[in-house]
Amino acid sequence: MRLILLGPPGGGKGTVAKELEEEFNIPIISTGVILREEIERKTRLGKKVQNIMSKGRLVPDEVIIEIIRERIKREDCKKGYIFDGFPRNIEQAEFLEELNRELGKYIDYVFYFEIPFPKVIERLTNRRVCKKCNTNYNLLFNLPQKDNICDICGGELYQRDDDKKETIKNRLKVFTEQTLPLKKYYQEKNLLAKVDANCNRNALFLEIKKILGGL
Ligand code: AMP
Repeated sequence: MRLILLGPPGGGKGTVAKELEEEFNIPIISTGVILREEIERKTRLGKKVQNIMSKGRLVPDEVIIEIIRERIKREDCKKGYIFDGFPRNIEQAEFLEELNRELGKYIDYVFYFEIPFPKVIERLTNRRVCKKCNTNYNLLFNLPQKDNICDICGGELYQRDDDKKETIKNRLKVFTEQTLPLKKYYQEKNLLAKVDANCNRNALFLEIKKILGGL
């Protein structure tokens, strides 16, 4: 099963991706997580993208394309994958289509996470992420049991650089201009399923599972 989770930052894609990964035993491919790991490891790529990401802009397509081309061919993707944060623009979507054509594969579903921007801003400013396993928490509605410690792996929680208010505004502008056109793109390919992301995570996951049940 090959899935794309599409929607604004803070819409709950990362959280749903984790649940889908557990339920269907297919890996999450999150370009944001991969890039943040590069920054953490202070690699050449990490140094190249750090400034771009802290401003909330998109990393150049050729960087993303290289990451995806390499990642998608690994053994664990044989049964499928969940894209979180990719594709981010039409060019990336066209690249994916071409790559899948080469590999004889196809995307099963693109889930579009519908959620109003004010809600997204509230969620992002209160988001905390585990440094070790990338699980998301929220200071308003999904607190860890112990302050600043991940319930799952005991890792330390932190606030992402780009979850600060000034950067969030820019990320939403980038989303509207570059990523939102993908909604129409996938609608026209009959792959889009809109889901209500302005609700609790259980309800959202159930909605997605119900749609996938039809596969
Ligand atoms: P995310 O974790 O998906 O919110 O991504 C965090 C940041 O990583 C974005 O604001 C971009 O700077 C960069 N990024 C992640 N995925 C992509 C992508 N597919 N294309 C370009 N930039 C990306």
